[in-house]
Amino acid sequence: VDDELRVEVDADVCVGAGQCALVAPDVFDQDDTDGVVRLLAPHPDAASYPAVREAAALCPSRAIRIVAPGRRA
Ligand code: SF4
Repeated sequence: VDDELRVEVDADVCVGAGQCALVAPDVFDQDDTDGVVRLLAPHPDAASYPAVREAAALCPSRAIRIVAPGRRA
């Protein structure tokens, strides 16, 4: 699908703030022990796109990257 988003997370820069898991719990979770982000859905449903974009915007360490084919969002 051409307009499908792909989500990437960089666990090395994640500070475990948990904004992503609060805003988009279908896509992000946090590790039970260290709080580091876990990506549940690298290719989320379109219905989750707004929440994913919000999570990426809220993440204090910019650990969330949204990649769309042919461009970077
Ligand atoms: S919002 Fe960012 S820093 Fe916080 S848990 Fe998610 S990826 Fe990590």
